[in-house]
Amino acid sequence: MRQMIIAGNWKMNGTVPETEALLKALVDGDSRSGRARVVVCPPFTSLYTADGILKGTHIALGAQDVSAKEKGAYTSEVSVAMLLTVGVQYVILGHSEKRQYHAESDRLVNEKAKLVIGNGLTPIICVGETLEQREKGLTEKVVGEQVDGTLSGFSADFLGKSVIAYEPVWAIGTGKTATPQMAQEVHAFIRNRVAGIDPKAAENLPILYGGSVKPDNAKGLLEQADIDGALVGGASLKADDFIAIIKAA
Ligand code: PEP
Repeated sequence: MRQMIIAGNWKMNGTVPETEALLKALVDGDSRSGRARVVVCPPFTSLYTADGILKGTHIALGAQDVSAKEKGAYTSEVSVAMLLTVGVQYVILGHSEKRQYHAESDRLVNEKAKLVIGNGLTPIICVGETLEQREKGLTEKVVGEQVDGTLSGFSADFLGKSVIAYEPVWAIGTGKTATPQMAQEVHAFIRNRVAGIDPKAAENLPILYGGSVKPDNAKGLLEQADIDGALVGGASLKADDFIAIIKAA
């Protein structure tokens, strides 16, 4: 039985007071799910505060990135050890905004993922094609290469400690969502691809869908056979919307 996960990616939203208000609304609200693990990924500056609020609750804490280096002269970077001291359990890696604005490569994501898993955290590894690539019929080629590159050298054990998020770039923050069938096709393709590492670990691998998931489209996506949850951007910033998506799981 695969773990279902509903994760909120707050991106660069949430001052410390805003973080407190949103997390209190989630903790005090009906944000439990019988089926899904709930994860929130606020900005780095809010993690310490978030940990204080979430400790002992059903909501797990994630970060939006991490350095591939363990420590030292890497101005602005945040290390795995730093994340561990503030109660982080999940780390989003290779988000399309990092790939697009910071030229993050599959190789770097792979390095970060290995470091993250080696330190007992769970990477949420993002893959997905652009609109141009989809229109040229390159979705499987692009996503397949991203999967191979980001999971390069992974053992069955490492795969068993990972989460993948399929996030078509054209659906992120645009209000355009892949239809449940379109998303399911790519999720099945990804699962089949990672079966090359280990079929059993592939069967147990949570593959989340991300891209304009909202309360009104969540159910149709989440009932697909190979969609094991959602990575939610915009709608995770409103407690009512995020709770409605959790309830759709
Ligand atoms: C995301 O940033 O991971 C995302 C899916 O954003 P949105 O839900 O806003 O499209």
